[in-house]
Amino acid sequence: MKYIIVTGGVMSGLGKGITMASIGRILKNRGYKIVPIKIDPYINIDAGTMNPFQHGEVYVLGDGAEVDLDLGNYERFMDVELGREHNITTGLVYSAVIERERRGEYLGQTVQIIPHVTDEIKARIRQVAAKSGADICLVEVGGTVGDIESMPFLEAVRQMRGEESDFLLVHVTLVPFTTLREPKTKPTQHSVKALLELGLHPDIIVCRCKKALKEDTKKKIAMFCNVKGEAVISAQDTDDIYEVPLLLEQEGIAAYIMKELQLKQLEEDNEWTKMIERRKSLAIRDKKIQIAIVGKYAELEDSYLSIKEAIKHAATAIGCNVKLKWIEAEDLEVDKALNPLFDDVHGILVPGGFGVRGAEGKIKAIEYARTNKVPFLGLCFGFQLAVIEVARHVAKLKDANSSELGETPHPVIALLEEQRGVKNKGGTMRLGNHVVFIRGDTVAKKVYGKKRIVERHRHRYEVNPEYIERIEQEGILFSGTDRSGVRMEILEIPDHPFFFATQFHPEFKSRPNKPSAPFKAFLEACVREHEY
Ligand code: GLN
Repeated sequence: MKYIIVTGGVMSGLGKGITMASIGRILKNRGYKIVPIKIDPYINIDAGTMNPFQHGEVYVLGDGAEVDLDLGNYERFMDVELGREHNITTGLVYSAVIERERRGEYLGQTVQIIPHVTDEIKARIRQVAAKSGADICLVEVGGTVGDIESMPFLEAVRQMRGEESDFLLVHVTLVPFTTLREPKTKPTQHSVKALLELGLHPDIIVCRCKKALKEDTKKKIAMFCNVKGEAVISAQDTDDIYEVPLLLEQEGIAAYIMKELQLKQLEEDNEWTKMIERRKSLAIRDKKIQIAIVGKYAELEDSYLSIKEAIKHAATAIGCNVKLKWIEAEDLEVDKALNPLFDDVHGILVPGGFGVRGAEGKIKAIEYARTNKVPFLGLCFGFQLAVIEVARHVAKLKDANSSELGETPHPVIALLEEQRGVKNKGGTMRLGNHVVFIRGDTVAKKVYGKKRIVERHRHRYEVNPEYIERIEQEGILFSGTDRSGVRMEILEIPDHPFFFATQFHPEFKSRPNKPSAPFKAFLEACVREHEY
């Protein structure tokens, strides 16, 4: 197994995840099988209980793991399916060590960070790598070098460097520009120094910067940081993250990695380059639409990262430019007309969410989409709120609501049977892949083109079976269910340009080259309804 470890210096948010995902893509294009691992040094067992406002969206894997959003970047860039073992957290590592200690497996030893915790970290990385059958294992160490939390992980990396013969360390840093447009290398020098203090030495330095670094700046970094000139790579800002693999490639990172790890080009896969060319040509097309995303964390777009990406993928496929208009749901709750806000949008999307804040605003947006025949896509909470909206305003069930949101005479959305009595919040929702059966002759059947699909889930509440008949009498159709037929998965209104909502999260399976079917159908409807 060959290992490439990615660390970060100076500050967080430099795009380590995208850098690693891009390196993975570059190597995949050359015919190598890659296995990515993300290390998150926080104490949480997983990202499931974390507030998206603090940490960005919670990404859901096929096996139901609730993980860091970087795993979404890996899946999208490398086009792989990952599982819970691909995200290692401090919480997971320590709880495994403590459990082992309780079982007496350390045979009376004093249990310590070195070697017990570091051994656990190394064993986990190696197990995942071996099980995957991959050629190259990529590991991203979250956080910034120097953080207390990441110390045991960096120590494990240091030990592995001595134990493995094929091993590269990529350090991602920042090269800021002064007002005089002069690039500054000192933060990079300092962060490499912090690495050296931990006994680690970078092989490649990726410098995030506003514009590409000139040779003299690279030389300076190489000299101060003891790396070869060709191993200093500039990663300049770009509007399109999917271009990063090509930018890094142009900077020569592939050639350097291939040489250092003695890799040969096995094949040449141009799919990614072609996809980028298609995306670039979009920029000059005149098909332009605007989509409103009515959310709760609207000020923080990372909360809805996968949705944003899924829209991009669908837009690339159908060849249109999409502008997003972020609307804070709570702002819709004050008594005022919605027209000015929605006049310039061609579609309305209501994403997943939790809790009562902003829910009524989202319901208003859904009512607007339904009554004004604006294409609508509702996802998870957006699906549940669409059921509430039609229950209240079409089926005339006064004050219908979800039991998540308060007392109601008509709990059209209620707790899943198996959720009653569940107290723990972490990892206890209906999570991950579940099969959805689609009824024939429906919009859903046209959208997916098949009757049996698998999509990822993350919810605790669902449509209350007692109300299904009542709601379906009013021209609303539940066109997808689980195998039992009791659990509703898709809702549509046949007599509407596009009113489609899913209990599942199709955004998690969307890929740059394989857009998600509901997103594609939604954008197609927006384009169709929009006169040029
Ligand atoms: N809050 C809703 C539930 O728990 C929806 C969850 C979501 O949108 N992911 O069922």
